[in-house]
Amino acid sequence: MATATAHARILFVDQSGELGGGELALLPVAVHYRERSAVVLLQDGPFRTRLEAAGVKVHLLADARVSGVRKTGALMGILRAGWPVFRQVRALAELARDYDLIYLNTQKAFVLGTLARIFVRKPVVWFLHDILSRDHFGRLQLRIVRTLAPFSDVTIVNSEAVADSLRTLTGRPDAPLELAYNGIDPTPFDLTVNTQRRALRAAIGVPTDAWCIGLFSRLAHWKGQHVLLEAVSQLLLGEHGALERRAFGGAGDRGNRSTERPARLPEIHVVFVGAALFGEDDYAARLRDVVARHGLQPRVHFVGFQDDIPAWMAAMDVIVHTSVAPEPFGRVVVEGMLAGKPVIAARAGGVTEIIEDHVTGLLTPPGDAPALSRALALLRRDPESAREFAQRGREVARRRFSETAYLEVVDTAIERALERAAAKTQVFPEQV
Ligand code: UDP
Repeated sequence: MATATAHARILFVDQSGELGGGELALLPVAVHYRERSAVVLLQDGPFRTRLEAAGVKVHLLADARVSGVRKTGALMGILRAGWPVFRQVRALAELARDYDLIYLNTQKAFVLGTLARIFVRKPVVWFLHDILSRDHFGRLQLRIVRTLAPFSDVTIVNSEAVADSLRTLTGRPDAPLELAYNGIDPTPFDLTVNTQRRALRAAIGVPTDAWCIGLFSRLAHWKGQHVLLEAVSQLLLGEHGALERRAFGGAGDRGNRSTERPARLPEIHVVFVGAALFGEDDYAARLRDVVARHGLQPRVHFVGFQDDIPAWMAAMDVIVHTSVAPEPFGRVVVEGMLAGKPVIAARAGGVTEIIEDHVTGLLTPPGDAPALSRALALLRRDPESAREFAQRGREVARRRFSETAYLEVVDTAIERALERAAAKTQVFPEQV
């Protein structure tokens, strides 16, 4: 797609070097604008390699003292990072001088990028990929974002759920926001072949004819891998096999559980695709420990972070999403649909804007393992319905979450921010 704004010089800023959903959402945008733009990363990692391989210029402005400030962190942590933050803000402002617009893709990037405007007047587009609530952020971080939010020229959100959270936080119910659902290219999902499915299954010890459940997500408590473990333990071992939930107690797990018991369902395997990307190693260790203690290793497989998601999804019979806190968007849900698999997802946040229950997939209450067990059992026993959900899901995902539509919204948002800046220059030429 060649557009006028594709020639704009944009400085994208992202705090992470990891390949999280926000970074994967930025990738096609950065590629689209790569001719005259660049990405600033506040941390090094595989995202840099991926950007550079796609021909995108990357500047690294890493400082461990700034990246060490967590999104639920306390005031002291932020104050200790004061001087390094100031230096990063100055460095960002210096870089921004050569660009027409700053595009801020993560919260830390938003804070630093907005402060950088003290030194360099450039229009700002803020892409908000997070639900701004206490499920995900500390009180102080929310206050900082609320204070800085009005300084964004154009704000893009990736779901209505994210828009609602921002409007609630800022107390501006009518704040104009651009809605850009993530666009995902279906081509790699169409190209997977059966030999790959067999090879991947063989590599991890899943028989070709086993019924395989895939959960694709970084390992983190709020992503709810433990909910799937509990659900499958009931399917594999019956009522007495239920795992001890206390091992995974923690903030965000609403424990919203129904009491009806599912029937046993042998011959199933579970594959967790993803790694603990953002310091949730303890949680990942507890998952593995519980699997080992219950002797579930032959049926439960941890394969770590994988690049070829379409191939791994093709190797599954069902894709499950289990977040116990509202998901801002849920790329994996759309990817599961594009892969032509029946998807069961947690009914909260952006996910409810993607799946229509019992039409394009199944929705279960977040944290409700028995309900998830029953949904799995339903798909297993009724392959015809499973096929119908998958087929309708694929059609809807292709139509509603296309990369072209996504890039068009982003393009328009950038154009609008540039136009506003130009209009201001004409009215107050000496101030800009
Ligand atoms: N993903 C990946 N490799 C993995 C696990 C996940 O590339 O091993 C990708 C997944 O395909 C999806 C993204 O990471 O595109 C996660 O995005 P999502 O919106 O589901 O969650 P987030 O990470 O943004 O919370």
